[in-house]
Amino acid sequence: MIAYRCEFRRYRRPFQRPLCTHHGSWTAREGILVRLTRDSGEVSFGEIAPIPWFGTETLEEAWSLCQALGPTVSPGAIAAIPETHPACQFGLESALLGLRSPLGKRPCCHLLPTGPAALSAWQAPVTAGVRTLKVKVGMAEPQDEIVWLQTLARQLPEGVKLRLDANGGLSLEQAQQWLAMGDRLPNLEFLEQPLAPGQLDLMLALAAQFRTPLALDESVATLAQLRDCHDRGWRGIVVIKPAIAGFPSQVRQFCQQHALDVVVSSALETVVGQQAGLALAAEIGTPGRAVGYGIDHWFANASETPWFFRPPFEDLWRHLPPS
Ligand SMILES: [Mg+2]
Repeated sequence: MIAYRCEFRRYRRPFQRPLCTHHGSWTAREGILVRLTRDSGEVSFGEIAPIPWFGTETLEEAWSLCQALGPTVSPGAIAAIPETHPACQFGLESALLGLRSPLGKRPCCHLLPTGPAALSAWQAPVTAGVRTLKVKVGMAEPQDEIVWLQTLARQLPEGVKLRLDANGGLSLEQAQQWLAMGDRLPNLEFLEQPLAPGQLDLMLALAAQFRTPLALDESVATLAQLRDCHDRGWRGIVVIKPAIAGFPSQVRQFCQQHALDVVVSSALETVVGQQAGLALAAEIGTPGRAVGYGIDHWFANASETPWFFRPPFEDLWRHLPPS
């Protein structure tokens, strides 16, 4: 039986300032790097980066699974990781497949700060060539947010598109307000996850009622959820975060089989997971839709840490304490 040496190391990477969404305030990204060594000595990396509030396993649950798997792992043991651990499925299978894609080749969507701060934060990325921007909404009163959002939309040069992400935090009435506004703006690409994942029927109705496209994110966080929403009739845009979706091989197969309209997006993972995510994006991402990997500016770019180091990742690995 083929088995690979398998090591795990935990990381903690603070944000420059907390990332505020409807789910709350997030101060540091924590995850696990996976290092697989083949008999030939060839090494490959993977990343386990759960987001429990999107319905994945917790970091501790992921860690327990890793401890139970190691120190050697077979392809069969990886294939047997249960659906309850989609971030582990991603991290281990992408390491096994050696999923790698050159970074920075696809147009990237840039995440702006929340609230009126966005008004002075779009110029730099747009000057650098970014053509898709994203803002989080649903944290303040909609009438206030709509005012600054309209200001932002009017400031943007022609050809720059805007994505709004409510993280499931709007009421039905608020979602209708946002969509009515969106229908009057020329540069809105979509409104992402207006309502909570449990309200798919209402979102299906909204999608039929307004011209502004809707995209599902939290509703389709894992492959099991994606299947369920598709079975229940969702044919609109879906945001896939490969890092939390499950086995990349199965995600790819499902998206291609049903010709889904896919935006591939980061789960704030490190460059290790990003590479595997972008490899999947090249296969399942809808052409013309920017990938949601414009997030490095959210992290403290401390020169003493090698987070921004490029492959083959051994420097990053050595930087982490053995666990
Ligand atoms: Mg989202």
